[in-house]
Amino acid sequence: MENKVLEIIAHLKSYLDYLREMGVEGFPSSGRKSENSFSSPTPQTLEEVQKELGDCRRCKLHRTRRTIVFGEGDEKATLMFIGEGPGYDEDLQGRPFVGKAGQLLTKIIQSIHLQREEVYIANIIKCRPPQNRNPEPDEIESCYPFLMKQIQAIRPKIICALGTFAAQTLLNTNAKITGLRGRVFDFTGIKVFPTYHPAFLLRNPERKREVWEDVKQISEWMVKEKDS
Ligand code: URA
Repeated sequence: MENKVLEIIAHLKSYLDYLREMGVEGFPSSGRKSENSFSSPTPQTLEEVQKELGDCRRCKLHRTRRTIVFGEGDEKATLMFIGEGPGYDEDLQGRPFVGKAGQLLTKIIQSIHLQREEVYIANIIKCRPPQNRNPEPDEIESCYPFLMKQIQAIRPKIICALGTFAAQTLLNTNAKITGLRGRVFDFTGIKVFPTYHPAFLLRNPERKREVWEDVKQISEWMVKEKDS
């Protein structure tokens, strides 16, 4: 018995060492600053979260955005996709992933025999940054609590983090997406599968195969979840 415990501890330690080498410095379940609502005893509904978000002016992006892209899909989805932030088309339509990258995401979802309406799709930030630049730390800081509340409302079993930005933000790491994809992480009891962003795939179609592998793994987990 004692040997078994020591063996488990040794495994755990080498896994943690591996994660540290990959740049994973912590687990967000321990709570981020400000309004991380995972500790909230009464989760809000998505409608309530959206109402609280209102005509958000918490960060500077409100000055240049046209529309807040809250997210869309099944409120009870088992699988949630999280991208970076709205682009031109999304800002115009107020819906996530509706441009070229969105069309590819739709195909990726369909490749595991699901429809867009059966999953939930959101982004790390809800307003388009000017010229599609990367989101800045203060913008993420303002938006993050609302994403957490959405996750808490939906309570998906699996999150697919699309691209470096989503993966690094959710996993609180600086590790590269190439080192994170193909692996599964824990986020407050939810399995996180990082994979490449569809926009990256449009520029690098030869990497599509890896994404098909990642979503196949997700699909297998979903079957397991259903059976458990
Ligand atoms: N890219 C993203 O990360 N999110 C979108 O909604 C659209 C493009």
